[in-house]
Amino acid sequence: MMKAIALISGGLDSILAASLVKKQGIEVVGLKFKIPFCSNKHKGVSDFGIEIKEADICDDFLEMIKKPNYGYGSNMNPCLDCKILMLRKAGELMEKYNAKFIVTGEVLGQRPMSQHKKALAAITKRSGLEGLILRPLSARLLEETIPEKEGWIKRDALLNFSGRGRKQQIGLARDFGIKEYAQPAGGCLLTDSGFSGRLKDLMEHEGLDRDSVELLKLGRHFRLNDTAKIIVGRDKRENEQLLSMAAPDDYLFMPTDKLAGPTSLGRGDFNKELISLSCAITCSYCDIDGISAADIIYRRISEKEDRILRIAPIEENKLLSIKI
Ligand code: SF4
Repeated sequence: MMKAIALISGGLDSILAASLVKKQGIEVVGLKFKIPFCSNKHKGVSDFGIEIKEADICDDFLEMIKKPNYGYGSNMNPCLDCKILMLRKAGELMEKYNAKFIVTGEVLGQRPMSQHKKALAAITKRSGLEGLILRPLSARLLEETIPEKEGWIKRDALLNFSGRGRKQQIGLARDFGIKEYAQPAGGCLLTDSGFSGRLKDLMEHEGLDRDSVELLKLGRHFRLNDTAKIIVGRDKRENEQLLSMAAPDDYLFMPTDKLAGPTSLGRGDFNKELISLSCAITCSYCDIDGISAADIIYRRISEKEDRILRIAPIEENKLLSIKI
């Protein structure tokens, strides 16, 4: 049986594209990429009957995002380079899955940066898969691909969707009986301005690695100087996560048992002054109603010895000026 790899993002379009190809009797392997910035979850076998395989491209993604060839979108989203990377990786897996072509859910004109005709052509060319990328939702508006020319798939049964509207996709989902799907790009943190600001700050200071990127997803972030930052947990779950993610050179700050408040994680070079500042920031988020100062415990993880500093909260203006 003819086989194809379909890129599955979790959004509706990729599911519809895969389903359209499957309907033509092609065996479809759904490929979901793990990147450090997306949170869409997938079951092993989806309820639309396509088995999902996962491929981890986190390291390649972190390398690519430092200097994307086509730049960033309105936030830190390097959509064109992201698509090229995913297609390249899918291309490398074609032999493993015995697949003859690749299917994507891209719709012509749906996104200004990455889905106009020129962008789709550039993505195809730069991925090294010319003629082998089928975009079933817009295929009839695009150049014929090898699967269509060779008669592996009927062009007439493919679609001519274009633009940002969602009506046609929602109608098609109803026809296919597909009820659950994520919003387009809803799971990508790179389209979020707050997250993008924190990512930019990290790239300009400590640099990117998987662990530091995971920390960006938690808490409130404060830049103390060029080599030090602190992350303040926003609830019990984040406090516990920060605790579990602390590395031997990190610092922890938290109130004593007498006071409710956050756990903060300090990363970088800390001197006495920065320790005081971090204690004051942590104190600002403690339940200090009517109290002018509080005891904040701090320790360097590798030293295991708790110290206590009695300190007043930091002024709100100062707090806001160092918030990332
Ligand atoms: S929104 Fe995020 S996951 Fe989607 S193409 Fe852009 S960078 Fe990649």
